[in-house]
Amino acid sequence: MTSHAQIDPIVQFGAEGLPVVSLYVGVEPDGSLKNEGEVRTRLNSLLDPVRSMDKDHSLDREARLSIRGDVERLARAYTEERWPAGMMALFSCSARNFFEEVSLPRSIRDRVVVDSTPWVRPMLAVLDEYHRMCVVITDDAIAQVWDLYLRELREVWQSRDPALRKPDYAYGRAEYGVRNKSGELAKRHYRRVVEVLTDRFRDGGFDVLAVGGHQHEVASFIEYLPRELRERVAGTFTVDANTATAGDVRRAAESVMEQYEQQEERGLVAGIAEAVAERRRAAFGLDTCLWAGTVSAIETLAVEEGVEQPGVVCDRDGWMSLAGEACALCGEPVRATTDVIDELVESVMDDGGSVRHIRFDTELRDHAVGARLRFPLPEKPAA
Ligand SMILES: [Zn+2]
Repeated sequence: MTSHAQIDPIVQFGAEGLPVVSLYVGVEPDGSLKNEGEVRTRLNSLLDPVRSMDKDHSLDREARLSIRGDVERLARAYTEERWPAGMMALFSCSARNFFEEVSLPRSIRDRVVVDSTPWVRPMLAVLDEYHRMCVVITDDAIAQVWDLYLRELREVWQSRDPALRKPDYAYGRAEYGVRNKSGELAKRHYRRVVEVLTDRFRDGGFDVLAVGGHQHEVASFIEYLPRELRERVAGTFTVDANTATAGDVRRAAESVMEQYEQQEERGLVAGIAEAVAERRRAAFGLDTCLWAGTVSAIETLAVEEGVEQPGVVCDRDGWMSLAGEACALCGEPVRATTDVIDELVESVMDDGGSVRHIRFDTELRDHAVGARLRFPLPEKPAA
């Protein structure tokens, strides 16, 4: 389970002068023995350069001992549990008794970094693509609050007030009083649910909200939401709060999420298209986007899901291009890569930009990549 509670301590960790080893290693979807062996081999070869730091006498003794402990801890991590497919991000500073592992849903490049702080940028860039949805299901007496994140659904709060009864059985003079009381109780109940949601929202517990229940109750509940929460409503759905199962909640919530993401992806691509047409800071197509990535100009990169393209990269200065023998910036020979889009994605993440993979049919199909830019591009040198 990946959550803010898990991420925050990593982002905020202070090693107080000691090195932190951050390691990212991909885990194939197929959990066969062959793959397991392969993950172990890659993990070990990633750790090799870190092992040799143990003998680096420019580091003080405490740092070297800590790194030695990190290597042992990281190598052992794989044997302790079965890693889910995707990417494992591991962070270790053994002298400070710090070790964290996070499973990421999307593969990025294997790598290891030793620095004074955890190397969290790739992890945050991957997680940034996924919304965290709070799902609230309520009628005037019951409420269930669920959390949907990285396809995992978890119930986080529920309230069932037995004192509340529908006024249907009452009639005559008594009816007015019961209805009135029931209305008051419903109001109090909704306010309490809103309080729970507001607290969760302010703690960073979610960024989008889905509301389920009977149609008229959903409508009246939304009236109770303060603006900061109402703006987060991604969708609503009809369900009976009394009888809804976890399976019902999942189906409804995933469908709201899917529609929301589709809208968001279309919006991003449409925004790029509009900006390109108006010659504002945006670009379509690999040729321009590779140059934009080279000069760290990309704020948000939109990548057509599943597209790959061979190209070349200069490892000295990060120049990327579809073709060429020598780097256009420094003249050194370039490295050929089977997928230059992947190089672009990594470089955008390293520069603190965000990356969105576009799954739905948009104009991006014709361009493979598009980008919103931080600044107008300098002229591209001839390759
Ligand atoms: Zn170069």
